[in-house]
Amino acid sequence: MDEYGNTGEGRAARRDEAVRAAVEQGLLGPDSPIVGLLDVTGIRESAAELRAAFAEVTAPGTPVLHAFAVKATPLVPVLRLLREEGIGAEVASPGELALARAAGVAPAETVLDSPAKTPAELREALALGIAVNADNPQELDRIDGLMRSAVSRSPLGIRVNPQVGGGSIGATSTATATSKFGVALRDEGAREWVVRAYLDRPWLSRLHAHTGSQGIPFPLMAQGVAETYALAEEINRRIGRPQIDTIDIGGGLPVNFASEVTAPTYAEYARALREAVPGLFDGRYGLVTEFGRSLLAKHGTIVARVEYAKSAGGRAVAVTHAGVQVATRTVYVPGSWPLRISAYDGKGRPKSGAEVVQDVAGPACFAGDLLAEGRALPLLDQGDYAAALDTGAYYFAHHYAYNSLARPGIYGFVPDRAGGARFATVRDPQTLASIVAESGGAHAGALTTLHTPGSR
Ligand SMILES: *Cc1c(COP(=O)(O)O)cnc(C)c1O
Repeated sequence: MDEYGNTGEGRAARRDEAVRAAVEQGLLGPDSPIVGLLDVTGIRESAAELRAAFAEVTAPGTPVLHAFAVKATPLVPVLRLLREEGIGAEVASPGELALARAAGVAPAETVLDSPAKTPAELREALALGIAVNADNPQELDRIDGLMRSAVSRSPLGIRVNPQVGGGSIGATSTATATSKFGVALRDEGAREWVVRAYLDRPWLSRLHAHTGSQGIPFPLMAQGVAETYALAEEINRRIGRPQIDTIDIGGGLPVNFASEVTAPTYAEYARALREAVPGLFDGRYGLVTEFGRSLLAKHGTIVARVEYAKSAGGRAVAVTHAGVQVATRTVYVPGSWPLRISAYDGKGRPKSGAEVVQDVAGPACFAGDLLAEGRALPLLDQGDYAAALDTGAYYFAHHYAYNSLARPGIYGFVPDRAGGARFATVRDPQTLASIVAESGGAHAGALTTLHTPGSR
């Protein structure tokens, strides 16, 4: 339970209703055996909690931009919904920028952070007035060139890596000594180089660090922010004026995948930051945040039909339509990314009954394609549904085309007045024609027309 008495019960009840309504309305069934569901009410609540959390700790009038890390849920209707809730976009590729623009996110609410920006991308961002954080000295050189050739409204900064260390998941630890991101601040000469970079460029007004994602302990995140703040203070002191006016503290709040409860909350994080770095909140600095997973994870559910229920070596195995194509990290690295599974019957009602240790398998053709291994659940039967919970970020929107399995349809839902749910299509299910087209269907003869000289 969090401080608002929020145990996530409302969310669980909405989800149960949505699963039942999805079966009833035919979104889920024998011919549509997997869908992704997004809880619109929950997304709005999280966005409001985020805004309120930082409004509580910042001095009145402090500009705060919450830029949603688009990579967490790269879906245009989600970005539009967040925009309506006052949340901008953090983008890290031309594709993500295109999604943000399609959603109508304004350049002033957009931040570009990718580690491998091409000259064309940088030129476009500066022309649009999008904030850019330079990742390294070579990128800053390119920005220098662009700033000499045209005026830009873009707020510009440098991304630093405070090198405070990693968390429990290596792949999401961005502040290790050898991380590929940003300027490694503790390397010899690096800090002085950063200070000089600002001294030489009056237009550099921001400083950025993203200390890591899922698996980074709270105090380490706060330390990363504290060190970034200390650097901004040092730079402004050396320059003799508040040239850095905005600090981008990145995202990375971890998500509780073990139960329904939202923990930690944005309010807890914001208060912990104010405690650790009070100067950051006294009104001298504007703030940018870049949360991804914590905004969306708990509002998404993958629901998959149990095609077959079998037994092997004494183990019950439910063969479902959700596996590596929608839960790639969980299937390949189950120890770091376990998911809760809920069992529903053929009508989409929560299944009760004695729990049986079973495997919940996916449809892909390799033995490791398991959503959950040895999990105690009411026994899943043919025609039942298995739901993978907390999958609204970095899961069903991140399709992996193994076995040419189709991208599932994604539907947003709100409760209706009759205890059911109303749905809106967020993404259509992928068609077979589109799978063929994306797999070179227009070039079927391409290879047979290429001949080694002299072979014919
Ligand atoms: C991935 C990423 C984020 C978002 O991280 P979450 O853990 O999803 O909150 C924010 N900023 C940058 C630069 C990122 O790479």
